[in-house]
Amino acid sequence: MPNNKLTPIIGLEVHVELKTNSKMFCSCSADYFGKEPNGHTCPVCLGLPGALPVPNKKAIDWCIKIALSLNCKINEFSKFDRKNYFYPDLSKGYQISQFDLPFGYEGYIELASGKKIGITRVHMEEDTGKLSHQDINGQRASLIDFNRSGVPLVEIVTEPDFNDALEVKEYLQKLQQIVRYLDVSNADMDKGEMRLEPNISLSTDPKKLPNYKVEVKNINSFKFVEKAINYETKRQDEILAKGETPAQETRGWDENKQKTFSQRSKEDAHDYRYFPEPDIPPIVTTKEQISTLQKEVPELPDKKVKRFEKEFGLSFYDAEILTRDKPLANFFEEAVKEGQEQKLNPKDIANFIINKKTDTSTTTPLALVKQITASKQTVAVDEKELAKIIEEVITENEKAVTDYKAGKEASLMFLLGQVMKKLARKADTNLIKDTLKKRLSYSDK
Ligand SMILES: [Zn+2]
Repeated sequence: MPNNKLTPIIGLEVHVELKTNSKMFCSCSADYFGKEPNGHTCPVCLGLPGALPVPNKKAIDWCIKIALSLNCKINEFSKFDRKNYFYPDLSKGYQISQFDLPFGYEGYIELASGKKIGITRVHMEEDTGKLSHQDINGQRASLIDFNRSGVPLVEIVTEPDFNDALEVKEYLQKLQQIVRYLDVSNADMDKGEMRLEPNISLSTDPKKLPNYKVEVKNINSFKFVEKAINYETKRQDEILAKGETPAQETRGWDENKQKTFSQRSKEDAHDYRYFPEPDIPPIVTTKEQISTLQKEVPELPDKKVKRFEKEFGLSFYDAEILTRDKPLANFFEEAVKEGQEQKLNPKDIANFIINKKTDTSTTTPLALVKQITASKQTVAVDEKELAKIIEEVITENEKAVTDYKAGKEASLMFLLGQVMKKLARKADTNLIKDTLKKRLSYSDK
């Protein structure tokens, strides 16, 4: 932790890969993960001379939807720009991105505390290829796979509004939830579909930005970003305590060593020489188009939590768990609808789903409602009474017992039916079945 006088000032850049069918500026498949290297390429995404980019309309619509969901204003007149730099994974020698007129700007995400994290901009760009360094026949080699080159990427940049790692984590979870609710990205960090870059500095005055800033590049887990921020806070605090200023630089996170390390200093920082992309006309989005996209934005998690609390009487805790992903929230709502006839309390349904950790992919809302109803109707069976009835049934149905022992499963159901008949009231069939099976397995008399 920093000494009392210093406050961490943290900003965040997040890259989210969109799950469109095709890439940002060509018709190659964007579904590149785990595919044969360089199979998803064409002259456009290989950056061959003369190839012309054609923007992917769906990707632009989705980028605007993300911006709208983050409470951003939308630039009705927008454009693409070239960001020039050299790196082997960037075939054209420039990346098509957005500079002064991003699709979205001036938005925010509200944290549970009520604090708003300002969003500076939401812009559209293309992903780069991927380098891999390997030993081939005893020689060190760098291989390039351009399958990822040109995959649509949305960058979301915040104001330096965070003051600790926990705020950053909460923001990231909310952002990930939102893009998943919109169904525009899987935001799977293991696959690099969501990449995080915090910038961190310490200030004596929380309202004043320090004269330096340290960026940590390409982190791919919420846990690592938390660790990297805590590590940097401590490292910078120690430097400042000596009366020195931390170097303005880009660092990486080394998970094995649990520390950040210097990658490049400010002297090496690129001058990107942005200029408007001459091969793509400016993008005009009318007010009508924006309002159509707004209407396509589904009910987002924060709103859903509030509605679940009000409409179903759930606690904030339960509502928050049930809205973490959209399929679970939908499953719960359908179960409430199915349970109306049996007058099931939505709170009971919520408890059942949360406590039994219901797997919504292997059951249906109706089956769940039936399960809850059955468990409510189950009358505790007196063990002695049950054992007595089972003995009676076994004695009276010798043939069925022999058949069952010879492997005829259906006989068990017959015996079960006989027990139920004698019980003459509703009971937990699974419990009876288990008791009966146990009894039959050791009875050879
Ligand atoms: Zn292509």
